Formats: sequence, structure tokens, C-alpha cells
Amino acid sequence: MKIKYDKQGLAPVIIQDATTKKVLMLGYMNEEAYNKTLETKLVTFFSRSKQRLWTKGEESGNFLNLINIKNDCDNDTLLIQVNPVGPTCHKGTDTCWGEENQSNFGFFSTLEQVIAERVANKDTNKSYVASLFEKGINKIAQKVGEEAVETVIEALDDNDELFLYEASDLMFHYLMLLKAKGFTLKDIEKELKGRHK
Ligand code: AMP
Ligand code: ZN
Ligand code: ZN
Ligand code: ZN
Repeated sequence: MKIKYDKQGLAPVIIQDATTKKVLMLGYMNEEAYNKTLETKLVTFFSRSKQRLWTKGEESGNFLNLINIKNDCDNDTLLIQVNPVGPTCHKGTDTCWGEENQSNFGFFSTLEQVIAERVANKDTNKSYVASLFEKGINKIAQKVGEEAVETVIEALDDNDELFLYEASDLMFHYLMLLKAKGFTLKDIEKELKGRHK
């Protein structure tokens, strides 16, 4: 696909981590930088301040290994997915917005935060999560067992609504058990990734 460069021969490039989907930085490419990126598989920009080709990581060693390039709807902006070597920002942070480059599990991460907050607040009258944690890990583990059995029972029936209900119960209690053991979904991701060859 032909890229539409602007009057200065540049196109903006959004750099995204291929795995975590975090936006790492924004840069600009001219055609030469684009071609060099394809050839070397290392993201190379046209630096507007240096006025020359700039392979990200050329001094710091924090290269961006090319995984995938996508044009936007009208071919004037690129989305490049990478595997970064080290922090991407020259200030030492993972992203140029000062964030950590960690997986985000969307609403599941929100739920993990809510669970952590309920556990910290210990408001056992108002919160189911807090009251379950007060009863201790045996009770939480037992609940996971119950919800797993209910999920299995509904899986063998053909009521999709009930199956989804129990599978959701299981997921929610599973998140609580992880929390009770001091783990999060990130630990599970790490373990599963390690098995993925
Ligand atoms: P590097 O390409 O990582 O070896 O960094 C070389 C120089 O490029 C740094 O000293 C900064 O001036 C600049 N630089 C590096 N990373 C970034 C970035 N993410 N955004 C803007 N400028 C950067
Ligand atoms: Zn566009
Ligand atoms: Zn930066
Ligand atoms: Zn249930």
C-alpha cells in the first residue's frame, strides 16, 4: 500500500508493543526510513531534530524489533507493532507517556483493582468480596470449587445462559483466589507464555 507522506515527505508513526498493545512512542518516517525499517527489521525514523535517519536504539541499544506495519484508513499514518528491547523513552520509562509496558486485561484488570480495593477497605457489611476474604482462603478456595462444579454441570446441559452465568461466577471467584494467594492475571500470563513455544 502506498503511503501518503506530507509536504515535508514525512508520515507519523505510532509505535505499539505487539504483545501488551501499549503505545510506546510517536515518530516520523520518510520513504527512506520506511524502506530501511523493512530491510533491517529495526524501526528507523526520520528525526526532525537531527534531520537524518535515526534507528531507534542506535546509541542506547533500546531497539524496536519490527513485528507488523499497518496503514490507517487514508494511508497517511502508520501503526507499527514491535517487540521493544528495554525502555523506549530516552528518559528511561517504558513509554513516552511515563507508563509501564505491561499487559492490560481490560475489564478484568478493572475487576482485579476493585477486588484489591474491597479487600483493603474490609467493609464486610457492604462488600461480598470483603466478607469472603474475612472468612479466609479456605472459604475462597471452596467457592472456586463450587463454581467450577456448577460450570461443569451447566456445560453438560444446553442452556447457554446458565452456562455463561456460572462460567462468569467461576472467573470472578478465580480472580479472588489469585488475589488471596498474592497473584494476578499477569502471573498467569507469564506462566502460560513460558509454555507457549
Ligand atoms: P536511542 O535511539 O535510543 O539510542 O536514543 C538516541 C537519542 O534519540 C536520545 O538521546 C534522544 O535524544 C532521542 N530519543 C530516544 N528515544 C526517544 C523517544 N522515544 N522519543 C524522542 N526522542 C528519543
Ligand atoms: Zn489518516
Ligand atoms: Zn520519550
Ligand atoms: Zn455459581
